[in-house]
Formats: sequence, structure tokens, C-alpha cells
Amino acid sequence: MVKGREIGKLLIANRGEIALRIIRSAKTLGIRTVAVFSEADAKSPHVAAADEAVCIGPPEASKSYLNSEVIIAAARTTGADAIHPGYGFLSERPEFARAVAEAGIVFVGPPAEVMAALGDKLAGRRIAREAGVPMVPGAESASPADIRAFAAREGYPILIKASAGGGGRGMRIVGNESELEAALEAGSREARAAFGDGRVFVEKYLARPRHVEVQILGDSHGNLVALGERDCSIQRRYQKIIEESPAPGLSDATRTRMYDAALALGRAVGYVSAGTVEFLVDGDKFYFLEVNTRLQVEHPVTELRFACDLVAEQLRIAAGERVSEVGAPVGAAIECRINAEDAANSFRPATGTVIHLATPAGPGVRFDSHLEAGLEVASHYDSLLGKLITFGASREQARRRMVVALGEFSLLGVTNTAGFLRDIVASEPFARGDLSTHFLEEFFPRWHPAESDGIEAAMVAAAMVASGAFGIRNGRAPAPATGPAVAARRSPWDELSGFELWRSR
Ligand code: ADP
Ligand code: ADP
Ligand code: MG
Repeated sequence: MVKGREIGKLLIANRGEIALRIIRSAKTLGIRTVAVFSEADAKSPHVAAADEAVCIGPPEASKSYLNSEVIIAAARTTGADAIHPGYGFLSERPEFARAVAEAGIVFVGPPAEVMAALGDKLAGRRIAREAGVPMVPGAESASPADIRAFAAREGYPILIKASAGGGGRGMRIVGNESELEAALEAGSREARAAFGDGRVFVEKYLARPRHVEVQILGDSHGNLVALGERDCSIQRRYQKIIEESPAPGLSDATRTRMYDAALALGRAVGYVSAGTVEFLVDGDKFYFLEVNTRLQVEHPVTELRFACDLVAEQLRIAAGERVSEVGAPVGAAIECRINAEDAANSFRPATGTVIHLATPAGPGVRFDSHLEAGLEVASHYDSLLGKLITFGASREQARRRMVVALGEFSLLGVTNTAGFLRDIVASEPFARGDLSTHFLEEFFPRWHPAESDGIEAAMVAAAMVASGAFGIRNGRAPAPATGPAVAARRSPWDELSGFELWRSR
């Protein structure tokens, strides 16, 4: 493991908003940056934002952002002395961390052995048990007999999980014994296809839990701190869409016990860098789920409350420095993930070209995104377009700011979840903090945009294309927008000077 060396040049092995996010922190530390990009991302903003950029292959992730050899070769060619993996892609692969270290390059993350020890859900459970951390009751076995015995003790429903699972994939609820064997087989087959690893185990399926996680940060001098918690209960398909800190309504006693549990687990493995210990919470009881050995998508809510920069901390720690002093957290922060998806149609992924964009601003508003007018959103990668984060002295202030900010956000050309998120954050159940992982089923089982929204967006989009406002005709993509017309104007209607909607031409 190469540690304790100053980082002069950093390669960012990722794309989209997180690549931009990492480049910004590197710049504040005076570190030069190298972007990598697939052929589909040649015009992406992270390429322009970095000091240098290297094309690493075709659009398919397996041939570009997951191609560790090409990425390490790019670091060598450009003389980068460190690699930040971001989240997703190679970020949780110990083989990658090992290969980077063997190439004499600093991997910005925990040591490969720590990733290997925690990255797998079964291995994580073993360590949690030894560290005395409470966990969801489970049977760490794929034998139907063992699982039947477990279910006889704990009762159905139970949840089959892939040990190598991630991103909400590889989970199956089993309602009763007759479904068990078929579900086990299908689960294992699916896990093998998705993760190249068919190991599965079962957990008791908790009825109405909350997802609460603790941010930890450790350095190579043995310091380890907990930077508060995040409630990430609002999910679709086991994937988070709204996160906040602090977790509303959690007692201080439970909160403290969760920090202690996360720190005990971190200490047990000598955790270094940023990591997240995920729990399910049921009343004042909490149960360990897994550790994510990387920067988490929702890290900004923690940054706003602690006035810290977690990416800068990761970079400093990778260079052998100590975790910075952190003060007590203040206020409340909320993050909404704006995805290229159709919330009214089972969150089907959407594609398209951004023809108009207006981004929110104002006190306590942060927008982490790679969106810009002209950007083409294809289906090669995940659907995250941007993360809108608001901060306030109280949760209610952060919430109101979020409602306003989502109202200011306007994106034409790519169906996205901003309107859906606004309805959620403006809703009474959200305002009173009635959170659980079933929030959407309970309160938004069938969501549709207010009719006026849809019609207005469609009319404006049609009008803009017809008027040639951005040079989009016959499906041709426009040049990346740098023009003042895009930057300076806020309402899409402003772009339509001289265009009349109702007169035929
Ligand atoms: P977080 O809490 O940080 O969002 P997730 O488990 O939702 O954690 O995953 C974070 C990111 O990693 C998401 O962008 C997701 O698309 C990506 N990701 C997670 N697991 C996988 C996987 N197995 N294959 C590809 N991408 C993944
Ligand atoms: P992933 O690696 O895909 O993130 P997790 O184990 O972190 O998998 O679980 C993701 C989500 O799935 C949780 O936030 C929760 O909503 C749901 N979940 C996981 N385990 C259970 C369980 N035992 N009971 C109820 N819900 C669960
Ligand atoms: Mg998880």
C-alpha cells in the first residue's frame, strides 16, 4: 500500500456529477486533475473541467469505466500519482484497489484488505457480530433446511439477499415456505448473472423500517470519527431518492449508540478513509445492514451540517495526513436525487438532449450536477442527473428551501423526477417526518404530474424545437450551450420571442 505521499496529480476514475465534485476539491488543494471518459462522454463537462483528459474506450461501462487496466495505464501515461474511484463502477472492488497500489499509485479509499473484509455482505455481518453490533436476524446459509429452521423461529416474510449485492439489486421477498426453494434458486441465479457471485443468504424482512446510516472517517494514524447520520428511507426499488441529516425523530440515546456501533465496527477492521455504516431502524432498535467502503452519493448532507469537505478529507488522508478537527454539527440538510426517469411510469429510464436548463440558487442551496444545455443523456450509465441539496437552521427551513429550489429547477428535453420530488417534499407526511422505506408505497402509490405541468412542458419543448431556438431540428443535437441566451434567461417562455403557439404557419 502506497500511503503517506503527497498527491500532485489525481486521476478521477468516474464520470458525471461525482467526477466534477472530486475535481473541484482536488483544485482547492492545488492538485492537478486527469479525467477519463468513454466515447459517449467526450463532450461531458467533467472532461473540460479537468486539466487533462484521456479517452478510455467505447460507451459500454465494461469496456471503459470498469476497465481497470486501461484506467491504470491512463494514470501511468499522465503521471497521476493517485486515483479516486468515486462511487459505483470500480469503487468497491478490492482487486482494483490492489492493482492500483501495485502500480505504485495511491488509491483514494480504504486499503484493499479492508474493502475485501467489508465489501461482501456476509463478511460484513461476521465482522459486525464480532464487534458486538446488533444486526438484522438472519441465516447466513443458502441451505433450504437451515432457512426453514430460521423462518420457523423468526417467521415470514424473509428476504433473500445476494452477498455481493449492491445498488438495491439482488433482493427477493419470500412470503411463505412454499415459495422458498424456487426463490432461493432464482435469487442465486440472478446474483451470479449480475455480480458473478451466486452466494445468497436470508434476513428477516422488517415490516416498516427506516434506513439510517452513519458516516465514518478514519486516517492511517488510528483516528476514527463519526460524522453524524443520514436518514435515507425514501427509496424506490431499494434505491435512495431523498436523504437527510439529522434523522428526524431519532432519540439522542439511539443516535449515540449507532455512532458507537459504527465506530466499533470501523475500529475492528482499522478503517481508513470515508465509509458508511448502514442500519435499519425500528423504533429505538437498530440493526446493521452493510458497510459501503467509499464516498456515498448522499455525502453532501453531511458536508453541509459539519462544514467539511469529505472529498478533500479523503485526499488528505490518502496522502498520509490526519483527519481534520470537526466541530459539532449544526442545522439540517436534505438532498433530492434528480434522475432521468419517468416517475409516472414505473421510473422508466429516460433519454434525450437537454434543450433548456434553469438551476436553483439562493441561501442554503447547493446543486451538484453535470447538467448543461446541449448535454445528451443516453442509457449507458445510471440515471442520476444531479443532486439538489438544501441546508437550513431547522429541518423545516431546509424543507421549504427545497420546495422552492425544486420549483426553480427546469429541465426540458429529458423526462426527470424533479416534479415528483417537489410533490414529496411539499407533502404533509414528509413535513411531519413520517419516514419509512415504504414511504412511497404508502403516500405516493400512483403519482402523476399535475396536468398543467405536463402540458406546459410539452408545449414549450415543442415550441422551442419548432422555433429552432437551439438549432435542434431533425433530431440533431445542438452544440454545447455556452450562449448568453441559455445562461441568462430563466423561463423557457423567454426563449420564444417571435414564436406564436396557436397560429398555424
Ligand atoms: P448510495 O447510498 O451511495 O447511493 P448505492 O448502493 O445506491 O449507494 O449505489 C451508489 C451508486 O453506485 C449508484 O450510482 C449505483 O448506480 C451504483 N452501483 C451500486 N451498485 C452497483 C452495481 N452492482 N453495478 C453498477 N453500479 C452500481
Ligand atoms: P444494497 O447493497 O443494495 O444497498 P442493502 O442491504 O443496503 O442493499 O439494502 C438496501 C435497502 O433494502 C434498505 O435500505 C432497505 O430499504 C431494504 N432492506 C434491506 N434489508 C432489509 C430487511 N432485512 N428488511 C427490510 N428491508 C430491507
Ligand atoms: Mg446499501
